[in-house]
Amino acid sequence: MIGTPPASSRDRGAALRAVVGIFLPVDCVGCGAPDRALCASCRTHVAARPPGVRLVAGVRTDVAFAYEGLVRTLVLEVKLRARVDLAGPLAHRFGALVRRALAEAPDGTVVLRVPPSRRGARRRGFDPVVLLLRRGRAPVGSALVRSTVRGGRSGGRDGSGQKELTATERVAATVGTLRAEGVAGRTVVLVDDVVTTGVTLAEAVRAVRAAGGTVLRCVAVASVDG
Ligand SMILES: [Zn+2]
Repeated sequence: MIGTPPASSRDRGAALRAVVGIFLPVDCVGCGAPDRALCASCRTHVAARPPGVRLVAGVRTDVAFAYEGLVRTLVLEVKLRARVDLAGPLAHRFGALVRRALAEAPDGTVVLRVPPSRRGARRRGFDPVVLLLRRGRAPVGSALVRSTVRGGRSGGRDGSGQKELTATERVAATVGTLRAEGVAGRTVVLVDDVVTTGVTLAEAVRAVRAAGGTVLRCVAVASVDG
């Protein structure tokens, strides 16, 4: 019988890219090379970037990447434009760090996500951390709850109003903006996308402790301080 052999997934991937490329030409976001969203050379460059460790509120925080250069571009493309095609390199290492944290934690440890800002969630309609955890084959867990408006404005991250605040004022403005539920007596791995000052992640740690839980570790996709 004459027939075409079944296409391998690699062939199908190439065929799909060719078809998509007709309608939506893509260039590498790292170097502009044609036809791939992230070329092999830029992929290798990202994979060679070292992970990092920070301390946030006394908790070890594993950071998949420093938030700089091409990593920063990838994070922004995933967060702002839902570029699933660029999520792989970030998700792979982030997911592995979350899975490792859970492997070293007691049974029953829960994954809790720092929620995106209300404004960001409204604008984007999805949580980039969920996207990266799923893609990285790590448990998505549940999200901390964003408390109701305090002091006349929504508390939280990325607020443009926070730019004029001093560090102390920023911490004070953030305390009480998050709430953890169902963690009494449980151990928790906290996950977040980008850690900048660490104020939001520290608030998440505070919220878990206030609810009777213990934060074993935090894991972030990227950190401004490496
Ligand atoms: Zn490239």
